[in-house]
Amino acid sequence: MRARAWWIFLLVMAPVVGLYLFGPHAFNAGPVFNGIGLSAVVAIVAGVRLHRPRARLAWYLFAAGQALFVAGDVLAYNYERIFGGPLPFPSIADALYLGVGPAIAAGLVLLIRGRNRGEARAALIDPLIISTAIGLLSWIFLMAPYAFDTTLSLPVKLTSILYPLMDLLILSAAVRLAFGGGHRGKSYYLMLTSICVLFGTDGVYGWLQLHGGYQTGGLLDGGWILFYLLFGAAALHPSMATADVATAAPARLTRTRVAVLTAATFVAPATGLLGPERTTDRLVIAGSAIVLFSLVLLRMVGSVQQHESAVARMRALQETTDRMRELDRLKDHFVATVSHELRTPLTSIHGYLDLVLGGDSGSLEDEQRRFLLIADRNTDRLQKLVEDLLFISELDANGLTLELTDLDLGSLAHESLESARPRAEADGISLGFSSTSPVHLSGDRVRLGQLLDNVISNAVKFTPRGGNVSVRVARSNGSAVLEIEDTGLGIATDEQAQVFDRFFRTQAAGDHAIQGTGLGLSISQGIAQAHGGLIGVTSEENVGTTFRVELPVHAAIT
Ligand code: ADP
Repeated sequence: MRARAWWIFLLVMAPVVGLYLFGPHAFNAGPVFNGIGLSAVVAIVAGVRLHRPRARLAWYLFAAGQALFVAGDVLAYNYERIFGGPLPFPSIADALYLGVGPAIAAGLVLLIRGRNRGEARAALIDPLIISTAIGLLSWIFLMAPYAFDTTLSLPVKLTSILYPLMDLLILSAAVRLAFGGGHRGKSYYLMLTSICVLFGTDGVYGWLQLHGGYQTGGLLDGGWILFYLLFGAAALHPSMATADVATAAPARLTRTRVAVLTAATFVAPATGLLGPERTTDRLVIAGSAIVLFSLVLLRMVGSVQQHESAVARMRALQETTDRMRELDRLKDHFVATVSHELRTPLTSIHGYLDLVLGGDSGSLEDEQRRFLLIADRNTDRLQKLVEDLLFISELDANGLTLELTDLDLGSLAHESLESARPRAEADGISLGFSSTSPVHLSGDRVRLGQLLDNVISNAVKFTPRGGNVSVRVARSNGSAVLEIEDTGLGIATDEQAQVFDRFFRTQAAGDHAIQGTGLGLSISQGIAQAHGGLIGVTSEENVGTTFRVELPVHAAIT
């Protein structure tokens, strides 16, 4: 019901409008016309209640504008009956009519303010160009004839000029709304159409008034009726609640915009061609032309400056990127050199430690043995780090060269799992294994072993005591599928995409002081990809993690 209210309103009002415009004479009367106007006021108030917009005041101002319109009409229609004389000009009815413009324009300004927060000043120039052009037309055709009519009294002159001026006020606000950013729902389009219809109808009315052709109750009334009903429908559409919501829509020079702006700049020369007789008109046209061209120039200068600063920013960005690339290259080179230089002394330290621990240099006291074992473990860690760093440097420099052999992924995975058993048992973690049948594929035994060691040791490392790690190997659609599942710490959703990044470690890894370098998964991914496969992760925090590796078996022996 709430979503359909707008077209139910139009549907209900359609027959009334039909009767007023085309029905029997009795329906072509003021009360019917004003009833339609009143229905729009009710529709706007109902829309506010129904959809609860943030910009409630704006919509109440629209309702007030429409109500003033209806009030003016009611007064004009009944003037003779109430005051016993013909309706003078200007009258209170005119005062009411003239209140419509400020009320609606103020409502529009409230919506615009919400929609275009933080927008560039340049965005004001486009609507200003359009409004200047329309203002010029309005002056020449609707205002000047009154302004220079010496037979008219000052109040008549002023009131007659104020009418098109009020319309110009509404239209300028509407153009600003249309040319800015902001949410564009059906309500927005209904409202803009309604305002355009009002402007058109008032324009034709003004023209007919000047040339003595307007008749009450004629087809032109359809214009005002449309204005009423479309505005009412705009207020009843659910998207009215977001009419003041900003969206990022910069004042880009789209093709339509350029066409509209061009048309606007043609207005001054075109009006000049009509050859107005009055010097004042010529002056106004010339002045408008100067204003219009200055605005266009300002707009163009702004665009060019924007473009130039964007190009300058891009250049600076490019330079920064180049510098970063060079630094990155230097860092890689440095890491590779240092790792390489560390490798030989570390091997030597490790060898001598093994000799001493093996008793080759005499027996050791317990405490000496304990200290040397700690040194040995840390040397192991350093060696692993150096090997990982060298691996990555090699991967970056030359890619991975694989030594392909036919192997059974199931037994390779089983070997890896068995080598993780001592650590798992020490940590109270149970291990499970399943493999459907031998899963043959063509791969590099050492590299795939490295991948398996990384992922399985991670699973053991990140699973608390009493947990479980299981490894499954199977074939699926021409691929070998390896799954390593644990019941460990898990990985937070927003960190899952990063676990394959070099040196990335989760918050939980740091919190639980679990050692690591953040290189293992990046290496594992490199190995999987070099085999034409892929590696992925699914995980839930404090529930567990599953790593899934898919490797094509293309060169497999079946
Ligand atoms: P390392 O284990 O040396 O820290 P990895 O590259 O192997 O580096 O893993 C990167 C990070 O991914 C780990 O630090 C950890 O935060 C997270 N991680 C990897 N495997 C698991 C797992 N099975 N459970 C929870 N977190 C994991």
